[in-house]
Amino acid sequence: MCQLCNSQKKLCDAHIIPWGLYPKSSNIRAYTLSSNRQDPRPKGVFDRNILCAECDRQLGRFDDYAAKVLLPWPRRRDLYKREDGFLERGSLGSKYFAYWIKAPDIRLLQGFAASLLWRSAVTSRDEIQIELGLADLERTRRVFEQDDRSSYFDILVQRMPRDIFSKFVSGPVKLDGAFQFCMSGVVLNIYLKRHDTPPEADCLVLGRTSDLLVGFVPFWGSKFEESFREIVMKDRS
Ligand SMILES: [Zn+2]
Repeated sequence: MCQLCNSQKKLCDAHIIPWGLYPKSSNIRAYTLSSNRQDPRPKGVFDRNILCAECDRQLGRFDDYAAKVLLPWPRRRDLYKREDGFLERGSLGSKYFAYWIKAPDIRLLQGFAASLLWRSAVTSRDEIQIELGLADLERTRRVFEQDDRSSYFDILVQRMPRDIFSKFVSGPVKLDGAFQFCMSGVVLNIYLKRHDTPPEADCLVLGRTSDLLVGFVPFWGSKFEESFREIVMKDRS
């Protein structure tokens, strides 16, 4: 039975982490914390017990959009500029602290994050599985099925500073009140409680402003955090 539409249908090979957000490689291997198994997994990790093809296609609309706006490396004009016009450089070689994603479609990105949580909660693939309470599980569906804005999640997006270190996807990492997914260098932080993000970062939450500022990691709790706070304090608008 399809877990989304509850119909008895032929189910498909549904990826939990969308295939479009996997690194482009024919040599995909799966590692887990409990074993350092390195079996080749040319098609990534998927579950053939959760979705019919039609429902998988419905979620695919969110996945396609997320891959389109989140994966590309920023163009020069999207890099964060100080008030004096200088680009902010970190000490990570020639990489930068932050860049803008201009006017993203909030509905599609919320749908993407919510459906990612939902898929992670209903799968039995232990590489990806998370525990989500019934209330949160129902909330994910209100977001991706009905675009219920009052159920939206607080979402922060970060970026790994170098392509070469980011050729992987991870299962969801449980943080305090949040889940973090790493997908080809894009780090998606989904907070379950509203306003649980650091207060300084509130204006970085998806949808608070029309453009989304994406910061390069590592910065929370690192020497880069100070600089990032400064960016935020200076540029609240
Ligand atoms: Zn279905």
